[in-house]
Amino acid sequence: MLHQQHKRQVKRATFRDCGRRCVYCGTALGLENATLDHVIPLSRGGSHQPGNLVAACQRCNQMKGALLPTEFFARYPIAGENFMRFARAVHRQLKRGARRAVSLAYAQAA
Ligand SMILES: [Zn+2]
Repeated sequence: MLHQQHKRQVKRATFRDCGRRCVYCGTALGLENATLDHVIPLSRGGSHQPGNLVAACQRCNQMKGALLPTEFFARYPIAGENFMRFARAVHRQLKRGARRAVSLAYAQAA
């Protein structure tokens, strides 16, 4: 019970911190259709810390899957741009990594 309550609180706080949007595509979300995404996936050593959590729509969450954020942003640099804009409360290190992945992706596309 307590665990469920805690999870709901974390989700609500993350949702608010992300401006009630999917941080990857920027779509406005309701709490009921928002999912919690671990920026560094748990399977890749990511944590449950708030600095590793963002709100995402189901579609983006599924597309990202078990990719590291840098791998995901290399494929979808626009998702990285949205992430830098909307994922305000994540670890600074994640934002730095995103910025690097996005500029690298655009440099390679040019
Ligand atoms: Zn999305």
